[in-house]
Amino acid sequence: MKVLQPETIVIRPPVEAYSLLIPVTGGCSWNTQTGGCRFCGTYKGIYGGVQPYAIRPLEDVLADIDIYAERHYDGFPVFLAGGNPTSLPTEHLATIVRYVRERIKNVPRISCYARALDILRKTDEELRILAEAGLDIVYMGLESGSDKILRMMRKGVNSKGYIKAGKRLMDAGIKLSLYIIIGLGGYKYSEEHCLETAKVLTEINPTIFRFRTLHIVPGSEIYKDVREGKFELLRPIDNVKEEYLIIKNLGPNVTSAVRNDHISNYCDFESENIKEDREMVLKYLEELLDNPRIQKAQRKLLTRM
Ligand code: SF4
Repeated sequence: MKVLQPETIVIRPPVEAYSLLIPVTGGCSWNTQTGGCRFCGTYKGIYGGVQPYAIRPLEDVLADIDIYAERHYDGFPVFLAGGNPTSLPTEHLATIVRYVRERIKNVPRISCYARALDILRKTDEELRILAEAGLDIVYMGLESGSDKILRMMRKGVNSKGYIKAGKRLMDAGIKLSLYIIIGLGGYKYSEEHCLETAKVLTEINPTIFRFRTLHIVPGSEIYKDVREGKFELLRPIDNVKEEYLIIKNLGPNVTSAVRNDHISNYCDFESENIKEDREMVLKYLEELLDNPRIQKAQRKLLTRM
């Protein structure tokens, strides 16, 4: 299969749709080393080729920043793209972040994806260096708080690791956005998925958490499992039930913002502070669960996540 250059596949969170996208790494080191997470097909051919993990030369990245600066892209958020830019040596990443701050005016936010394992490998001092350079927020895939599901999906980190990585990031002054994948335990582990995820969110109290619903993409290992009848995808109504159970089981300390900002989801509530909005959100979800439309709804046919 065709091997793509690091800057070819650039994925970003929906919230970064209008940001300057600057690839700093290509592919994902976890994918290259281990075959990656079982639900992920991003760098395995769905975008027309495979993309092995690679670090983009620093001078190429700085040259991209110069281009944006010379064209006066002032005031735009900047997303440092690549599956796991925090795998970069800290000084390399900090140099990029500082250069963005120096060259482009009024950047309201600099962000990137982060893998928990990469964060655990960095010292507190290194995380502070990144925060002081101006890295504002990282997007991290927690996916589930259940160790069983994390192992089953080959995430490479358990719930304790996520809690540690999440707390250390926030203590260093970097905001944390966590992703939860609804339906990731299938029917077999649905309840465990919700209860354990609520526990981890309660421990971390992240700045924000976002729901994504499991849709299987060709090229991922779970795609084969579903086709062979080894994994059962949840019906839309049962996906909504999982969101309900997670919110219901959050501890009273959780003040995170919550988003359903993805096409894969079957409900779309938002909250700036789930502690304040919890009753309203639960009522909305209860009404949705009683709605015949969601009871009869069919799964969306998405082939990309
Ligand atoms: S989900 Fe993230 S960490 Fe897992 S293989 Fe895909 S890009 Fe890598």
